[in-house]
Amino acid sequence: MTGDVPHDAEVVVVGAGAVGLAIAERLARTRSVLVIERREGYARETSSHNSGVVHASIYYETGSLKHTLCWEGNPLIYEWADAHHVPVLRCGKLIVALSEDERGGLDDVWRQATANGVRGIERLTGEQARVLEPHVPSVEAIWSPSTGVVDVAALARSYEGAARDRGALVVYRHTIVGAARTAGGFRLDLRDADGQRSSVTCAALVNSAGHGAPDLASALGYPLDGGVHEGIQVPVLRQRANSGRYYDIVDSAAARMISRPVYPLPEHQAGGLGLHLTVDTDGGAHLGPSTEWLPDGAALDYRQADEPEWRARFLEAGRRFLPGLRDDQIAPGQVGYRPKIQQPGQGLVDFLIWHDRGYVHLGGIESPGLTASLPIARVVAEALGTG
Ligand SMILES: Cc1cc2nc3c(=O)[nH]c(=O)nc-3n(C[C@H](O)[C@H](O)[C@H](O)COP(=O)(O)OP(=O)(O)OC[C@H]3O[C@@H](n4cnc5c(N)ncnc54)[C@H](O)[C@@H]3O)c2cc1C
Repeated sequence: MTGDVPHDAEVVVVGAGAVGLAIAERLARTRSVLVIERREGYARETSSHNSGVVHASIYYETGSLKHTLCWEGNPLIYEWADAHHVPVLRCGKLIVALSEDERGGLDDVWRQATANGVRGIERLTGEQARVLEPHVPSVEAIWSPSTGVVDVAALARSYEGAARDRGALVVYRHTIVGAARTAGGFRLDLRDADGQRSSVTCAALVNSAGHGAPDLASALGYPLDGGVHEGIQVPVLRQRANSGRYYDIVDSAAARMISRPVYPLPEHQAGGLGLHLTVDTDGGAHLGPSTEWLPDGAALDYRQADEPEWRARFLEAGRRFLPGLRDDQIAPGQVGYRPKIQQPGQGLVDFLIWHDRGYVHLGGIESPGLTASLPIARVVAEALGTG
């Protein structure tokens, strides 16, 4: 693929997760785009192992990318879902205080949510909250009507289809194993699932590789702990994985006891929003995700064993929301891994969208990355001068 064309593609997007595919769709409006993904299909990693909540931008530091892009993305996900026949529930969510001493924590969440301009939020008494979720013994709550739940697989599939419709080429089962800057662009070395080697060239490179993002940055010579590279100040790119396990409520009568996500007070320092109850678009209900830091470099295992300590922990948390929940009504569900720039014990760290001479690096694209996927794509397009 050379001839008169200087590069194989104007832009290569690495990673066919929801975010990479949203970016591909956006860029393919004006550029030739090649998406390269190591897995056998779209959304096989973080984009298919999450809560699927369309967040309202309640928790994030005011003015951060997480706040502004999630806030912008919330109505866009509903519009996209309607236009592309993606199942979505506009069910709202409750953040509940389950004991008197949790009321203060609710005040903190309320202050942040109002500072962030969250659409339509209200304070509810325990009685009002119990009208919405009669089985949850709330003493007080925050009601967020703009929160919802999306079918994540269908969302990613719709992004992939829309990107292809605009002419993007999506190549699966190819791993980027090397990368270098060339005069005017980049060369990427690939290995396919059969071990065959090849290379492609591009003028611009978008690193949307999720947990693989630091390795690709390293291959380009960037220092992962920040510093100066070729005269350019590089931010911290190193990531650490934090796992989020789920248990499913497998008894349909118990699952029908809730109609929307119900969250406790957040646990930012632990790395998550607190083990919550959530629903999916086809009537399933889940408990999770937990938060657990993985050792550096640990392999990400997407199978979850039914370990007695975890089962006990989930049952105890589940019973705070649904006091009658029984052990035989839950079973291990999925496990997802948050790609975090945040280190253990640190407060919330923002998304990183960093641009250096045709290279765009997406780092720490944990929650609310799905909700923010369309605005993230807009920001990447602007960074590459295609608006
Ligand atoms: C437990 C959990 C719960 C969450 N809940 C929510 C929620 O309720 N709402 C919300 O908005 N967000 C949520 N999120 C966040 C959301 O899931 C992520 O922000 C989003 O899925 C990130 O998408 P991505 O495309 O950046 O990453 P990914 O989906 O991980 O995609 C990256 C892709 O890059 C590929 N790749 C990596 N390295 C290479 C390489 N060298 N060569 C080729 N391909 C490569 C990988 O195979 C992968 O497919 C949650 C996340 C977790 C972990």
